[in-house]
Amino acid sequence: AIDSPTHVAVYSQQEDAMYQRRFRLLNDFVTALKSHDQLRLVYQPRIDVASNRCIGAEALLRWNHPELGVIGPAEFIPVIERSGLAQAVTAWVLETALRQQWEWRAAGLAVQVSVNVSPVNLIEPGFAGSVADALARHRLPANCLELEITESAIMEQPAKAHATLAAIAALGVGLAIDDFGTGYSSLAYLQKMPADVVKIDQSFVRELENDVRRQALVRAMITLSQDLGHRVVAEGVENSAVLDFLRRAGCEEVQGYLFAAPLEAQAFANYSCPISTRALRVPKLTLSPR
Ligand code: C2E
Ligand code: MG
Ligand code: MG
Ligand code: MG
Repeated sequence: AIDSPTHVAVYSQQEDAMYQRRFRLLNDFVTALKSHDQLRLVYQPRIDVASNRCIGAEALLRWNHPELGVIGPAEFIPVIERSGLAQAVTAWVLETALRQQWEWRAAGLAVQVSVNVSPVNLIEPGFAGSVADALARHRLPANCLELEITESAIMEQPAKAHATLAAIAALGVGLAIDDFGTGYSSLAYLQKMPADVVKIDQSFVRELENDVRRQALVRAMITLSQDLGHRVVAEGVENSAVLDFLRRAGCEEVQGYLFAAPLEAQAFANYSCPISTRALRVPKLTLSPR
C-alpha cells in the first residue's frame, strides 16, 4: 500500500483538519479537567407523566473551551472515550453531581440525579467501589444517584459489564439503560439486566405523532420493558402530541424540550421547585399569639 499513490490522495485535507481538531480537543481536555471554569454540568428535568412533576435531573456535560467556545459532548465524549481519559471524566461528573445534590438539598429540593457513564467504566474492576466511596464521602444515600449506561456499552463486554452492573445495583444506586433501541442485541440481554429504567432513544420518539409504524415500535418497546420489570423513560419529547401518545401507551417518564432543555443548576432548582426557597424561610405572620 505504501507505494500506491492513491492512498495518499484519499487522505483529504478535510480529514486532516478533522484529525487535527480531535487531537487538539484531546490535548486541551486535559487542561479543562484541571481548570475550574471550563467544564460544567447542566441538568435536564425528568418528568413523571402521571403527575406532570419533575422527579429527577439528568446531568449533561458542557465544555466552554477558551478559544473554540462551547463544545457539546456529542463531539468531545467520543474522542475522550477513545483515550484513557474516560475514567477521569466520569469521576469529575460524579463528584460535581453529588456536590450539586447538597446545594439542592440545602434549598429543600430532593431529586435523583442521573449521570452518564462511559463504556470503559463497566470493565474497570473498582468502579462500583469508587461509586460507593463517592456517595460515602458526600454522605448521600445511594438512591439519590442513578447511572445511565448505553446498551452498546454493555454489549462491548457483556460478562464484565454485567458483574459491574450487579455490584452497582447492590449498592442501591439506580441503573438506566440509555439510548435503548439503538444497540444491536437489545432483547436477549434486556431480560438479564438489573436495570430499573429503560430510556427509549429520542430517534424513536421524535416525530412520533405522524408515523404509525414508529408508534407500533415504541408501544412494543414500552410493553416489553415494563413486562420485564423496568420503568420506561422516553427521551426527546418535543411536542404535546407525542406526550399524549406516550401517556396513552403507559410510558412513565419523559424528558424533552416540551418541558425543558438542559438547565443551569440554579435554573433547574427554580424549575422543579418554583416556590422560592427564600419565601419559605420568611417567618410566618399568622403565628398564634401567646
Ligand atoms: P444522552 O445521554 O442520550 O442525552 C440526551 C441528549 O439529548 C442530550 O444531548 C440532551 O441535551 C438532548 N435532548 C434532550 N431533550 C431533547 C429534545 O427534546 N430534543 C432533542 N433534539 N434533543 C434533546 P447532549 O447534552 O448534547 O448530550 C449528548 C450525549 O453525550 C448524551 O446522550 C450522552 O451520551 C453524552 N454525554 C453527555 N454528558 C455526558 C457525561 O457527563 N459523561 C458521558 N460519558 N457522556 C455524556
Ligand atoms: Mg443519558
Ligand atoms: Mg439517551
Ligand atoms: Mg445519546
